[in-house]
Amino acid sequence: MSELNQEYIVISGARENNLQNVSLRIPKRKITIFTGVSGSGKSSIVFDTIASESQRLLNENFSMFVRNFLPRFPQPDADAIENLSMAVIVDQKRLGGGSHSTMGTITDISPILRLLFSRVGQPYVGQAHMFSFNDPQGMCPECNGIGRSLGIDIGKAVDKSKSLNEGAILLPGYTVNSWDWNMVMQSGPFDPDKKLSDYSDEDLEQLLYGKARKVKMDFAGKATNITVEGVIEKFTNKYIKQDVKTKSERTQQTVAPFITEGICSSCHGARLSQSTLNCRINGYNIAELSSMEVGHLIRVIREIDDAVAVPVVRSLTERLQHLVDIGLDYLTLDRETDTLSGGESQRVKMVKHLSGSLVDVTYIFDEPSVGLHPRDVHRLNELLQKLRDKGNTVIVVEHDPDVIKVADHIVDVGPHAGRRGGTIVYEGRFQGLLEADTLTGTHMKRPLQLKDDCRQPSGKLPIKDALLHNLRNVSVDIPTAVLTVVTGVAGSGKSTLINEVFLSQHPDAIVIDQSAIGVSTRSNPATYTGIMDDVRKAFATANKVNQGLFSFNSKGACENCQGLGVVYTDLAFLDSVKLPCEVCGGKRFKEEVLAYKLNGKSIAEVLEMTVEQALDFFQLKEVVRKLQAMSDVGLNYITLGQPLSTLSGGECQRIKLASELHKKGSIYVMDEPTTGLHMSDIGHLLEIMNRLVDAGNTVIVIEHNLDVISQADWIIDMGPDGGSKGGQVVFEGTPGQIIHAEQSITGRYLM
Ligand code: ADP
Ligand code: ADP
Ligand code: ZN
Ligand code: ZN
Repeated sequence: MSELNQEYIVISGARENNLQNVSLRIPKRKITIFTGVSGSGKSSIVFDTIASESQRLLNENFSMFVRNFLPRFPQPDADAIENLSMAVIVDQKRLGGGSHSTMGTITDISPILRLLFSRVGQPYVGQAHMFSFNDPQGMCPECNGIGRSLGIDIGKAVDKSKSLNEGAILLPGYTVNSWDWNMVMQSGPFDPDKKLSDYSDEDLEQLLYGKARKVKMDFAGKATNITVEGVIEKFTNKYIKQDVKTKSERTQQTVAPFITEGICSSCHGARLSQSTLNCRINGYNIAELSSMEVGHLIRVIREIDDAVAVPVVRSLTERLQHLVDIGLDYLTLDRETDTLSGGESQRVKMVKHLSGSLVDVTYIFDEPSVGLHPRDVHRLNELLQKLRDKGNTVIVVEHDPDVIKVADHIVDVGPHAGRRGGTIVYEGRFQGLLEADTLTGTHMKRPLQLKDDCRQPSGKLPIKDALLHNLRNVSVDIPTAVLTVVTGVAGSGKSTLINEVFLSQHPDAIVIDQSAIGVSTRSNPATYTGIMDDVRKAFATANKVNQGLFSFNSKGACENCQGLGVVYTDLAFLDSVKLPCEVCGGKRFKEEVLAYKLNGKSIAEVLEMTVEQALDFFQLKEVVRKLQAMSDVGLNYITLGQPLSTLSGGECQRIKLASELHKKGSIYVMDEPTTGLHMSDIGHLLEIMNRLVDAGNTVIVIEHNLDVISQADWIIDMGPDGGSKGGQVVFEGTPGQIIHAEQSITGRYLM
């Protein structure tokens, strides 16, 4: 290989998904940005080829024994992929982790803050772990470091007007004759037919709160020692003394109705023991510093002038500065990570990497501008540049023109989506892109148009004195039957106002967000939109057989994989491994079912069609209408059978939109619907929103995208800034008015 090639990641003949033998070179230690319409093949190159191969190579470094436990990455479909370095994917997946995972713990800032307290805090209490709510010595003994005290709602847990035989215990698992119910019946001298309200105090105490004790029970004629405890005691030990957020989502949902929640009365939410909270620096204890906004905290830390603390202060301020730089100065260290938005999560992960000392890593970002106001995009750009300047290769999939501008190298994928994409239509510098005859090139040059014929509202939906998070008594009217766009910098209070306050008053609103569509592994666009029902009927009629055969939840499904097309092999302590089904080869149906055809195609072949192909194939009115709705939201390129779990957040959002399009007189709420959309797709999205409004619906959109904001009938701008410096409505009016509103930051970017 030539010297020169060492400077590039070299990909030859890539064919994943829709890629048409793509070959390209990505310069190392530079910023390369992938652009192109949704479905053109950006992810197929960046994630399914580059990141996947890097993971596979990494795993090959492990011994055979360890490799048996790792997820198997198949070799990407390509002739060659050369010169890869280790890849780190910084994506928008939310940071989970339960109550014990906070902004401070995930960024490694909290351990340094504890170190600082152990060095210079007064009075001296001991070592650094005393300041950790994850440590038995530091945590508040009352709430075990959770900061909230959980209780059990006795009224919901037991019905004292009933007997055990009548099902007096309402907690999950105790239905009459169930295993747990039988254990209770055998665990004491309880009268099964007596109402609990007639029990003696002693018996009731033992039934509900009895401590763990061994009881001899009869099992299949054998006396066995079994540990039993009161039903409330057992529930408390299982779900209240342990952090319920670490349990499965299903368990959380089952037990949630029985749990009451309040701030811990001992530590008042600070999570730490009293002696730890008495220790202060410049008058602040560690809990007070952790609940301070990062922008304020960094100033307090800088004021510490104790010589002993110099290195710790330096390391703290450096990390806090990264958070400020990326526009997260409105967050606090004690913020639980599972309450952060996707964009915030991605930026927090980014900060973690900036403080690390890795070099020659390939960092891969998926639309890092999501959730960022145009004012703050330059901060993101500076961070990407910093990562590059540390000697890393930075690869970004992005649609925002202001991010695309900082690329050292641009790869434009297209020309269109799906089969009509999968090639590289432009490679080179930004200036060249502007002259290129590609969708990206053409759209980058288009000037912004402000809407001037704004619709008149038919009425209003008032929000009165909203007080939540940073909102300060916000009262604002949402106009009906128009397109309202809610704007403002990150942290200004948009989601709080709309997703929390407004939606709590209008639960009938149709919410179209980016959350995964929580359905079974068998769901796909065809089942989700209801097309599958019509298709099954059509196959049944054409072949004069039962329509049930064509469902992969039924007897027509491949028996080996139960219609999944893949087989999951469970591993002891890691994610299970997914392998294609050997019997049906991923087709998901039995041979005999595949023999039935509709206009020459089998059910498996229909499911492999893209929306666009299916539109050519079907004439059924209902099917065409639903397919057209998917096509309208820019999903032409997805196949009917693609598992919903493989769709991105933006695609999930658009598929929800497609299936809700025909309703009338409703309120629609959308949160950054342009996520994942190329500039040329946004016009389409706007057409859909306008169609919804013209049909009499009220559409409310949280957006940063200037093309959308400029086409609003009404803008509600939150601000002036993020966190405690935000929480107010700074402007209400039309796009034509906002550009003259001095107090609005958003207005400046529309000129
Ligand atoms: P982009 O990242 O540019 O939006 P993708 O690389 O995700 O585009 O998609 C390119 C094409 O490959 C699309 O037609 C898409 O439907 C298809 N595709 C992507 N992932 C899968 C998958 N897991 N299974 C089948 N088809 C896929
Ligand atoms: P935006 O949607 O404009 O980005 P948010 O409504 O998400 O703003 O946030 C407004 C303020 O409320 C910020 O200071 C943010 O940190 C805070 N906040 C948002 N969600 C929560 C939460 N679940 N717990 C505590 N604070 C929150
Ligand atoms: Zn406590
Ligand atoms: Zn199978």
